Amino acid sequence: MNLDSLYQEIILEHNRKPRNFRVMADANRKVEGYNPLCGDQITLWLRIEGDRVADASFQGLGCAISKASASLMTAAVKGKTVDEARAAAEHMRELLTGKLDVEKERKSLGSLAALSGVSKFPQRVKCASMAWHALQSALDEHNADAVVGGATT
Ligand code: ZN
Repeated sequence: MNLDSLYQEIILEHNRKPRNFRVMADANRKVEGYNPLCGDQITLWLRIEGDRVADASFQGLGCAISKASASLMTAAVKGKTVDEARAAAEHMRELLTGKLDVEKERKSLGSLAALSGVSKFPQRVKCASMAWHALQSALDEHNADAVVGGATT
């Protein structure tokens, strides 16, 4: 199995069975994201305890890439510190815009590397980046309850 088909399998699997796909009643951050180009929507919840992302969950409607990206994102940031989660979002921005050396970072990216192929399809970049934009807003205290619409990459 080559990497492309492995990555495609990861995306399809996360789309079929998204991780952390639930409303979070005790969240202290909630952000909505919207990608008008594709019609993808997401509500992201975080529970921040001290400097740590204690819990992350989402619900939404959209294409396989948007849902898989949100699923991978919540799984990746859960348990991380706020600074680590910010760094992950920045890393992902570079990955999706083709600015990251994927070969070099493959190990540290783990399953997130599955989203690397998206950079070859400019019209899908916003599908994948939507969840990460929502994450960045949610991590910024002053933006709690923000609505992220048509975010630029
Ligand atoms: Zn989409």
